[in-house]
Amino acid sequence: MYIGGEFVASESGEWMPSVNPATEEVHGRVPAGTVGDVDQAVRAAQAAQPDWAARSVLERGALLRKLADVMRARADDVVPLEAADTGNTIASLGGDITLAAGYIDFVAGLGMEIKGESVPATPANIHFTMREPYGVVGRIVPFNHPFLFAGAHLGAPLIAGNAVVLKSPDQSPLSASIMAEICHEVLPPGVVNIVSGVGTVVGDAIVRHPSVPRIGFTGSVQTGMAIQRAAAEVAVKHISLELGGKNPFIAFADADPGKVADAAVAGMNFAWSGQSCGSTSRLMLHESIHDEVVEYIADRVGRIKLGDPMDPASEMGPVNSEPHLKRINEIIASAKEAGATLVTGGSRPDGEQFRRGYWVEPTVFSDVTMDMRVAREEVFGPVLAILKWKTREEAVAMANDLDLGLTAAVWTNDLKVAMETVRELESGLVWINGTGRHYLGTGFSGWKNSGLGREECLEELLSYTQTKSVHIIL
Ligand code: NAP
Repeated sequence: MYIGGEFVASESGEWMPSVNPATEEVHGRVPAGTVGDVDQAVRAAQAAQPDWAARSVLERGALLRKLADVMRARADDVVPLEAADTGNTIASLGGDITLAAGYIDFVAGLGMEIKGESVPATPANIHFTMREPYGVVGRIVPFNHPFLFAGAHLGAPLIAGNAVVLKSPDQSPLSASIMAEICHEVLPPGVVNIVSGVGTVVGDAIVRHPSVPRIGFTGSVQTGMAIQRAAAEVAVKHISLELGGKNPFIAFADADPGKVADAAVAGMNFAWSGQSCGSTSRLMLHESIHDEVVEYIADRVGRIKLGDPMDPASEMGPVNSEPHLKRINEIIASAKEAGATLVTGGSRPDGEQFRRGYWVEPTVFSDVTMDMRVAREEVFGPVLAILKWKTREEAVAMANDLDLGLTAAVWTNDLKVAMETVRELESGLVWINGTGRHYLGTGFSGWKNSGLGREECLEELLSYTQTKSVHIIL
């Protein structure tokens, strides 16, 4: 762990193994942090924060740009470690480092936007607002892109003048050690502190710590709700949540079936074994194009090359952990039992190299209906559910029929139909004739149970500040 500028073991002396999901071999270990370790990390952050906040925005911004540069320079160390720890392929992972560094550059440049307003509340006096940091921010990140989520979202709290206590995910914790080395090289001690350990111990201790007023969380709905409950038991805390999705992709009758198939396969993020919150995992096809799109998708998904995440030719690796594989297999079995048609995949892949490890083929079901688990639950695995519809109203009703609302896609050349549909969709982000891509600066956030607060935009930066109104009585 990295606390107060020192690389330390846990006060408990206990360690947690990290398993390579492609081989099931233990390939590293991290300290099993305790409540006491979290307290040390928070104290170190509290001690470092006033000096950090006292620096000018330009100085903090310059250090953040250097942080981003060192991240890029360490990509050759991060990528293989992250591939071995997460199961994400080496071919795709380079983008995570570029993205993390790019986000940090973006917020470093936004620093001067941490400004208040002058308000003409009375003619005789002066009224204005100021934005100030919270102090110590807790950041808790998920297993699917640990370096990206840890790195990218350091930028906003830091440029705003906060210090950070970051918790790595226990299923893929290893790249956090390189993140610690990068922070050590660039930032004053204590400005960023990194703790590892079990979520219900270390994560919970961060959430409940009286000196952590602001928490930024990325992970599941269930944990997001647990965090809100735990925080509410101890204080009024400021929390942002980036949570799960079961995202609809509605393709209309005029859509080109080949393009829809390509976008559906890209939008499923098979390169991450479907373990991506924004994946458009419910493909809703108008009945007139349904069969043709399903045929294209079967062909494209059937050709995805599974293999060792460390092999640059591999297009998809294993899923991240044994319990996760078990749950994915349960949902696949439930879809078969419920009468969905298995278009492709559905099993452990054949071959000696797939005997060990958490492997499941990229899987597509058609004839899915909204009463099935595969249509209602976020699988967070390589499983695409295809549904059929006749009227636009029916499609929108299916899309909105869940308590999740992260992303959605609409595919049509009819602008009026597209915009009517966009207006009715209960999602925080909608692509028209696209899937998957994030556009920095425009924001990313879930509606309904998919989240609270916005990231990847100015709002994220401002959310790490609190506003003070000042009145000068003349
Ligand atoms: P998770 O189980 O919710 O865990 C996320 C993090 O929370 C981990 O570091 C975990 O620690 C920690 N944690 C667990 N219980 C906690 C508690 N009671 N208090 C505080 N922290 C706790 O999620 P995951 O399985 O890692 O990630 C998959 C989920 O993340 C999916 O639902 C996905 O959609 C979502 N996600 C959302 C976004 C987005 O931007 N909207 C992006 C990526 C992923 P341990 O690892 O030690 O359990």
